[in-house]
Amino acid sequence: MHKIDNYSFAGKKAIVRVDFNVPLDKKTFEVTDDTRIRGALPTIKKIINNGGAAILMSHLGRPDGKVQDKYSLKHVLPVIEKHLGFKVKFAPDCIGDEAKKFAAELKAGEILVLENLRFYEEEEGKAYSLAEDATEVQKKEAKVRVKESQKNFLKQLASLANCYVNDAFGTAHRAHASTSLLVQYFPNDSMFGYLIESELKAMDKVLHSNEKPLTAIMGGAKVSDKILLIENLLNRVDNLIIGGGMTYTFIKAQGGKIGKSLCEEDKLDLALELLTKAKEKGVKVYLPVDAINADAFDANANTQALKIDITPDGWMGLDIGDETIKLFSQVIENSKTILWNGPMGVFEMEKFSKGTKAIALAVAKATEKGAFSLVGGGDSVAAVNKLNLADKISYVSTGGGAMLEYMEGKELPGIKAIRG
Ligand code: AMP
Repeated sequence: MHKIDNYSFAGKKAIVRVDFNVPLDKKTFEVTDDTRIRGALPTIKKIINNGGAAILMSHLGRPDGKVQDKYSLKHVLPVIEKHLGFKVKFAPDCIGDEAKKFAAELKAGEILVLENLRFYEEEEGKAYSLAEDATEVQKKEAKVRVKESQKNFLKQLASLANCYVNDAFGTAHRAHASTSLLVQYFPNDSMFGYLIESELKAMDKVLHSNEKPLTAIMGGAKVSDKILLIENLLNRVDNLIIGGGMTYTFIKAQGGKIGKSLCEEDKLDLALELLTKAKEKGVKVYLPVDAINADAFDANANTQALKIDITPDGWMGLDIGDETIKLFSQVIENSKTILWNGPMGVFEMEKFSKGTKAIALAVAKATEKGAFSLVGGGDSVAAVNKLNLADKISYVSTGGGAMLEYMEGKELPGIKAIRG
């Protein structure tokens, strides 16, 4: 495994797995958020400034193995060109003669973007073209068929370049052709790009931090999505702050009244178990003490602020209250390492966004005082961006699912393939 910083791309063609899976406007197909494209720029620039040529490959959306214009990567070309300041080439197929010709003609300093990898079912290794009533035998046969043709798909992609770079952190938790298999064709010439390198550095910094207290702030809708993460973090953190919809499973499990707040009835025992485990490990758990309750899940609902465990029937908690904001902010501002995943309330609605904003500000404040802060997970990142606080956080992760899995302690296929 090489480090991209030390690798010489002079005279080489690098095939780079980037994550250009960006949101597009449904009518105009214009890119509505280019964060992921910007994230890949340092790697692209390193390759071309170093005298190499870059062949960029990505997926976009879920075309399920079929060519569909709305998922074409041609839609992202104007944004790449805007950021780089020059024209890039586009191969309307990621493999085959045309891709080969484009790649062969590519000169040093040039960039070629390949069409969506997922126009081929070989990318995900899934048999999409199966009849709905396919038998188990047919399903098995189809899988074998896709796996067989995946080899050809990989060979064709590999033939385009001399070295392989993986910089698609957002898909690093998927064992797909371009993320975890293509690397085999470049045994001496594979590496992570700068984006994956910095994501790994930020996550490892939190997981192995000696800068204490280490505080994890968990929010979002469901406990069930975050159980594994919470369990892994219990071995590492000093403080665990819980907010958002998942609060109410913990409150109900402890005998509180939660009205019609979000609750996972089948996770009540687990919530108690997590609290016991935390106690055994000496982790301080902070749950909300008050909430902003609403009489409907609606931006214009009637609201009232109440203690967390006396939510009246027919009402639901949609944000943390002022006392909780004070309590959480104090813990956060006294922390030296912070991980934040998931909003404190239904921040998409103005009325219930105060808690999430306050927590974002507390994290920014702690960072200003010297703490290391990592924010990840789609919604908390959206909140930080909405508040223009991204540059006041030490690291804002680009990969929701990938970050969660890494922080849970899982080995990500896209990472393992290169690290070994
Ligand atoms: P997640 O994807 O698990 O991080 O969940 C994010 C979602 O949780 C956001 O869309 C929030 O609106 C939602 N959420 C946060 N707090 C609550 C709450 N108290 N009740 C219902 N939904 C919530």
